[in-house]
Amino acid sequence: MQVYADNAATTQMSKTAIAAMIPYFDKIYGNPSSLHSVGQEAKEALEAARSKVAACLGCQPREIYFTSGGSEADNQAIRSAAYNGARKGRKHIISTAFEHHAVLHTLQRLEKEGFEVTYLDVRHNHNITAQQVRDALREDTCLVTCMYANNEIGSILPIAEIGKICREAGVVFHTDAVQAVGHIAIDVARENIDMLSLSAHKFHGPKGVGALYVRRGIPLTNLIDGGAQERGKRAGTENIPGICGMAAALEEACAHIPENAEKVAKMRDKLIAGLSQIPHSALNGDPVHRLPGNVSFCFEGIEGESLLLLLDAKGVCASSGSACTSGSLDPSHVLLAIGRVHDVAHGSLRLSLSEYNTMEEIDHILQAVPEVVAYLRGMSPVWRDLQTGKRQYIL
Ligand SMILES: *Cc1c(COP(=O)(O)O)cnc(C)c1O
Repeated sequence: MQVYADNAATTQMSKTAIAAMIPYFDKIYGNPSSLHSVGQEAKEALEAARSKVAACLGCQPREIYFTSGGSEADNQAIRSAAYNGARKGRKHIISTAFEHHAVLHTLQRLEKEGFEVTYLDVRHNHNITAQQVRDALREDTCLVTCMYANNEIGSILPIAEIGKICREAGVVFHTDAVQAVGHIAIDVARENIDMLSLSAHKFHGPKGVGALYVRRGIPLTNLIDGGAQERGKRAGTENIPGICGMAAALEEACAHIPENAEKVAKMRDKLIAGLSQIPHSALNGDPVHRLPGNVSFCFEGIEGESLLLLLDAKGVCASSGSACTSGSLDPSHVLLAIGRVHDVAHGSLRLSLSEYNTMEEIDHILQAVPEVVAYLRGMSPVWRDLQTGKRQYIL
């Protein structure tokens, strides 16, 4: 049995999304900027896709800018808000310690450019509170950027509360909602979100395409200069097949959020209950406010990398931390941020589910993980030291 449990890294495309793309490869292959009919048909598809994405977020089509994915959307949103602030002498930004690298590395670059960033502590409940945001606000704060839900540990942040605080304070609020869009119902107006990043391949759409929602009136800074596409804010011939695939995937996902979330959360809760039985283990992430598909654990006395390889041999595709950090020996910044010490953070496992998974697959995972953990602990000198009392258990 082959079980794909790495949906936070990327998802299988939906049949609907694939079907929605095909015509734009072979029949309606025009450039939307062309004035002839083949181009104009592509232009119509582009604007229809924009309307669909806007409808799923509760905004106007003209507030949607298509990008090459979540990373680009994050970069453009954060840079735009920062430079808008700098023009008014406001160079302070609030974020969290467990953002995706697309956000963190953009912020680090801005710090080199003279901006000051407050990274909110995420140790309590592996989450932040809206009060932390309120307390961090300053006269010169120009941007609050907090992810909607964490990609490694699944915590869902109090976005509507943060949005309300930011709106009252007159500070722009951006959220990296890449893990939430298509999985949780989002309404940017009701939640007072000014900018939001999303990525198609996290909700059964194609890779290499995403979108940035920007509330009307907030000026955008270009990352890519050139033609006048995307109202002059993002140059380059539009990825029409990708954009149409994304819109179809999003429309499909948004139409089924309650039932998909219920199905996926049932599988998640069974996994969490089962894996909690493993001694000296701990659940990572907010136990209550949690993505329906996220299961994240640390197991003391093992190495995450070996765990993944052995699980793969048993047909389970999982992840430890994020794909961006795998292959490097540094433990995940997210696990360190929630207070896991290095040794414990190294023994992490993320299983991320989608509605394509089944209960039979969950049973298979629940068979495989305890076996592999026990096997690795049996060979681990660290585990022997823990058992003989030469070392103290942390979990
Ligand atoms: C995947 C992901 C991104 C990056 O999106 P890409 O489309 O792969 O660039 C950004 N933020 C979060 C939270 C993600 O999970």
